[in-house]
Amino acid sequence: MLNRTIKYLFIIIAFSALSIQTAAFSKRKRAATLTSTINKPSVPLPKLPGYDPYHSDFWSKPNYRSTIVPILDYLRSVEYSDLPEEYDIWSDTKINPYQVSLVDMSDTVMIDVSGYCPPSVKHVTSDFGFRRWRHHYGIDLKVHKGDSVFNAFDGVVRITKRARDYGNYVLIRHFNGLETLYAHLNKITVRPGDTLKSGVPIGLGGNTGRSTGYHLHFEIRYLGNPINPNDIIDFNSSSVKNSILALNAEHFEYKKEIDKIRYWTVRKGDTLGRIAQRTGISITKLCSLNGIRRNSILRIGQRIRYT
Ligand SMILES: [Zn+2]
Repeated sequence: MLNRTIKYLFIIIAFSALSIQTAAFSKRKRAATLTSTINKPSVPLPKLPGYDPYHSDFWSKPNYRSTIVPILDYLRSVEYSDLPEEYDIWSDTKINPYQVSLVDMSDTVMIDVSGYCPPSVKHVTSDFGFRRWRHHYGIDLKVHKGDSVFNAFDGVVRITKRARDYGNYVLIRHFNGLETLYAHLNKITVRPGDTLKSGVPIGLGGNTGRSTGYHLHFEIRYLGNPINPNDIIDFNSSSVKNSILALNAEHFEYKKEIDKIRYWTVRKGDTLGRIAQRTGISITKLCSLNGIRRNSILRIGQRIRYT
């Protein structure tokens, strides 16, 4: 009997030792994967062709740091070990390679946003939220030609790319778990793998891609899912509302509203009257939802929102 108990005890000890070892191994492995994604940053930094701090009113803001801090070694040794597993994925082409929905996330994630530096201190020109045809997943901030755009939090550049809609854009993975995206830039002055302090210039504001007029399109994401920047930042004072963001499912409630939206695709012979009949939505409502008039001409293939 005693013999058997000792035998079982031995088996239990052996198993727990094994699992501790496995855990240690997987942590090591993960750390290795992550550090290997941080390439050697381009030194000296920042390299800023065309950058002229006197061109921007940026420096006149009293709450802004007056010097650009170079990359510090400690930043390079920061591990992403507290971040969700999905961040093991490191893509330098896809904005959202994670494919996780956070609409029903059950826990609250505490995110340190105290290191925030404004990418641009000028006014908001267009807010996060619904636009006539689609959701606007970022906030638009005014920039003038020649104005620098600045990194919002400490982190590593993941993507620098030119796209049809975003124009020249930069996406940065931050050590606090957020990712930020800066679009319509005229010039990009960082490269994927660069480790950046917050407040370091990443390029020049511009008007590239699907953009009318000089502005910065700024997005904040967590695991690929956009967050309303107003949940974190007070854009009047260009500072964070709280130094810690308690991120939970409420921040992704807006996605449920998006899912409710339905579109009717205009086919040959469709009129507003016919669409109203088919969808059960009045012509007046259709007009106001779509910003059109009763006598507006419908194009085949045009999407008419009806809820
Ligand atoms: Zn925008």
